[in-house]
Amino acid sequence: MKKTRDVRLRDRKEYHKRYYQENKEKKRIYSKKYYQEHREEMDRNSKKHRNENMEKTKRYFSEYYRKNREKYLEYGREWAKNNPEKRKEHRTKSYRKFRNKFFSMYGGKCACCGEETREFLCLDHIKGQKGKKNQNSSAATREAIKKYNPKKFRILCYNCNMSLGFLGYCPHGGLDK
Ligand SMILES: [Zn+2]
Ligand SMILES: [Zn+2]
Repeated sequence: MKKTRDVRLRDRKEYHKRYYQENKEKKRIYSKKYYQEHREEMDRNSKKHRNENMEKTKRYFSEYYRKNREKYLEYGREWAKNNPEKRKEHRTKSYRKFRNKFFSMYGGKCACCGEETREFLCLDHIKGQKGKKNQNSSAATREAIKKYNPKKFRILCYNCNMSLGFLGYCPHGGLDK
């Protein structure tokens, strides 16, 4: 009996499927064996390859960023305009992280009264901000984090900071301006 076209087609499909599966298994075993025999060489190569590639990728991206900086900035501005809520959330989050880092680096409490509640704490320039009146607190925090300098920066709570700033002393005593 002659096979119909459909049956022939099905048979062929079945055959290919079987062939593929059998070979898949064979291929898997083969490549596993190959890997075991050439392991060191292969690992070395892939590591080398990875390292070289990482350098390349890094270079590529920094170059790409440099060239398209304006575009990125524009994109960022556009995004911020369209996502004011998210932007605020991002800012608050990263600001908090940033502040926390500063607080951890500089002891985590007011240098005068020992207040530890982070919401009450702020950065203080020891001996004021000579000639640097314009440095805002986030720029100062950045600087304080970048280079740990406990002679220049310390943590104060707002009470002690205000008192020191306006009156030149804190009633808790013992702080030099
Ligand atoms: Zn205090
Ligand atoms: Zn105080």
